[in-house]
Amino acid sequence: MVRVLLVEDDEAIAESLGVGLARYGFVVQRTGTGAQALAARGFDLVLLDLGLPDMDGLDLCRELRRRTEVPIIVITARSGETDTVVGLEVGADDYVSKPFGVREIVARARAVLRRCRPVVTADDGVGTGSSLALGRARLDRRSRRVHIDDVEISLTPKEFDLLSFLAEDLGAAFTREQILEAVWDAHWHGPTRTLDVHIGVLRRKFDGVLKIETVRGVGFRLEVAP
Ligand code: CA
Repeated sequence: MVRVLLVEDDEAIAESLGVGLARYGFVVQRTGTGAQALAARGFDLVLLDLGLPDMDGLDLCRELRRRTEVPIIVITARSGETDTVVGLEVGADDYVSKPFGVREIVARARAVLRRCRPVVTADDGVGTGSSLALGRARLDRRSRRVHIDDVEISLTPKEFDLLSFLAEDLGAAFTREQILEAVWDAHWHGPTRTLDVHIGVLRRKFDGVLKIETVRGVGFRLEVAP
């Protein structure tokens, strides 16, 4: 059972989306304001309309991300790439533009939930298989935590997935397509600048510890900083 917090002030959209999601087995909790959204508890996923009456949607997104690790999908009427990219920068995991179909939302929701759930591999049982040392950084796939020395670094689910993917083969160049497909999904139609935004965030967070090099015309490669 997936509990969805639907933050949407447009009654008609909220109603039809709520009914549609329920048909796919989601349990939907509806709120029409940012204040109610911040007061809400007990959900596994947030669907967040950026145009709200009482608060800027991006501010709300940032605040929700500060409080919770659950995936956030931003719903935007503004199809401009700027909003989308800013949305991802403030911690959203994916976005859909209006108008959208319920099936599209369901597909996105399932995809982000799949990505955010830890993947348990056979190696994890022995205790060391899920932990990877990257110079001063340590990445643990089972708990989805990353530390520099003994300090935990806060990462969004996407940032973790991206780092984890690049770390699978240290020093190897991955193409943008490989990365987008593995970290986002095969049906990702969003702006590819999204990838650069996430790379930029990781570079900031791991400055002096890890180096993400741009491989011109190809993609990126991760190395331990010298
Ligand atoms: Ca709205």
